[in-house]
Amino acid sequence: MKTMTCRQLGGACDFQLHGETADDVIKLQDTHLNDMVAGGDDAHERALKEMKGRWKHPVSGMKWYKNTKREFAALPED
Ligand SMILES: [Zn+2]
Repeated sequence: MKTMTCRQLGGACDFQLHGETADDVIKLQDTHLNDMVAGGDDAHERALKEMKGRWKHPVSGMKWYKNTKREFAALPED
């Protein structure tokens, strides 16, 4: 299990995301962003737009995805 924060994934707070893989934390971050924006948090709106934009622009999105996977791999286990 490893931990990344919302901020490390391009978000706006220090909310902690725990997962076995980078895909796990990315999925959790997606949910977190949606929850925060649904609750009226403006700071996360930009991050949510960026996250959605990544799937629409596979090339730049893939670069972010690879970087995130590399960052995740470099983290120590909890
Ligand atoms: Zn957050």
